[in-house]
Amino acid sequence: VQPVHIIGGGLAGSEAAWQLAQAGIPVIIHEMRGIKPTDAHQTDGLAELVCSNSFRSDDWEYNAVGLLHAEMRRGNSLIMACADKHQVPAGGALAVDREGFSQAVTAALAAHPLVTLLREEVTSLKDKDWSNVICATGPLTSESLSEVILELTGEGHLSFFDAIAPIVHAESIDMSIAWRQSRYDKEGPGGDAAAYINCPMTKDQYEAFVDALLIGPKTDFKEWEHVPYFDGCLPIEVMAERGRETLRYGPMKPVGLTDPNNPTVKPYAIVQLRQDNALGTLYNLVGFQTKLKHGAQAEVFRMIPGLQNAQFARLGGLHRNTFIQSPKVLGADLRLKRLIGERSLRFAGQITGVEGYVESAAMGLLAGLFAAAEAKGKTLPPPPPTTALGALIGHITGGHLADEKASFQPMNINYGLLPPMEAPKFDEDGKKIPVKDRTRAKKRQMSVRALHDIETWLKTEAVPA
Ligand code: FAD
Repeated sequence: VQPVHIIGGGLAGSEAAWQLAQAGIPVIIHEMRGIKPTDAHQTDGLAELVCSNSFRSDDWEYNAVGLLHAEMRRGNSLIMACADKHQVPAGGALAVDREGFSQAVTAALAAHPLVTLLREEVTSLKDKDWSNVICATGPLTSESLSEVILELTGEGHLSFFDAIAPIVHAESIDMSIAWRQSRYDKEGPGGDAAAYINCPMTKDQYEAFVDALLIGPKTDFKEWEHVPYFDGCLPIEVMAERGRETLRYGPMKPVGLTDPNNPTVKPYAIVQLRQDNALGTLYNLVGFQTKLKHGAQAEVFRMIPGLQNAQFARLGGLHRNTFIQSPKVLGADLRLKRLIGERSLRFAGQITGVEGYVESAAMGLLAGLFAAAEAKGKTLPPPPPTTALGALIGHITGGHLADEKASFQPMNINYGLLPPMEAPKFDEDGKKIPVKDRTRAKKRQMSVRALHDIETWLKTEAVPA
């Protein structure tokens, strides 16, 4: 069997290598650290955690990332096994001793007879006869390889920075204040003239909101990030700094919209939210990319009428981050749709447009399974969309709206990516669930469904070791 070549021995590359090797497929990992550093990594260990040492919540019942942990453990994830082994006390979160964790991943792969680790920077694919490749080079993909990816994916399909606007769960928007309408009732994709949700502001509310943006604590760019500001996507607080009226003439302009609750009074400003996923469970705040600190964002954005109880699926940000336009360029098996001769090129990890250590490793796990299936002459369908693994892959390769205006930005796992369920009224013992606890009960119901479905998929579809 031809070896699978994995470029990048980070979280995704290490997990993909493990899945392949466990499936009996030889793997060669090409990792440049040891020869060439990145701006953020400090060691040459595999799966180094570049910043926090937390894999976030480990609660599979009520937290989507905890659910993803549970699904990955069922898929015999090396990253999860090493994280569990090197856990440090962190309440309900899974935090790890970063050195012990990285050393354990490195040792497990080094000891595997089917894994070879080469320390080298891959700068070109043209001169290689590799038939089955996984590119898992992460947010700090080296410059020369970025050029190659740019060429392979096509112009405009590789981003070097993210510009993330906050996303809220649709069900947490107060529709007695907000209303659906597209500006000038223009029809959007699918003929929808009510694609946006609008939140009106009075003059006083607008002034207070601008003040909050101006005084809110901001995060600084790291010295090496060199994030340029483009006029089309300035952080919202930078726009506010340019003048008190700037937002009213920019993303908060109150034109072409009529508040049905108050049709004769023109709002002073309007915040628009645009549907963010095909399920319609998530909405992003249009034009609200921000460098406000995460702690401050919920408070500031809940000042927007209609969003006073908003639950955030993702907070905003602006970072250096290399990622491809996966919805356009990848198939559901993470393979580049564009054919490059006989070569099969998959992407895994943060570069696919997922966000976070666990999500990156999760995409490594799936890329490994897909590549293993291919090496064995089989095809593996993606996990069901009802699972956290399937929901993530759905988001990056299919779930995102084809709307040209809806920009594809990195995303953490969250329940809004899974098909919704009705909130249960009764618990498993037939006892009535108080209304205030039903959203929580719904999460548990979705998690139980996910674990059932991932177990079935792993048993019936995934290639056995
Ligand atoms: P990586 O873990 O970065 O692995 C990619 C590997 O590819 C690296 O080892 C790199 O050396 C190698 N490589 C790159 N180019 C080449 C090449 N041409 N040839 C050979 N090897 C190459 N997520 C969180 O959940 N929590 C955090 O606290 C967090 N902090 C972050 C801080 C920073 C500064 C950055 C940039 C990201 C952070 N992330 C965080 C996001 C993300 O989860 C991590 O970047 C994560 O490591 C991504 O995993 P990955 O496997 O995709 O990439």
